Amino acid sequence: MSDFDTYDCVECSTTFRAYPDANATAGPYCSPTCEIEAKDLA
Ligand SMILES: [Zn+2]
Repeated sequence: MSDFDTYDCVECSTTFRAYPDANATAGPYCSPTCEIEAKDLA
């Protein structure tokens, strides 16, 4: 519980929890799908 931080996905605005380290390089995405979508639009 204390290990997780809350993020708002930059692609779909879904609030989700993840390990901070897991999101440090990829940015706050709720799923790999949103990460792909965001990069496609960039
Ligand atoms: Zn998302």
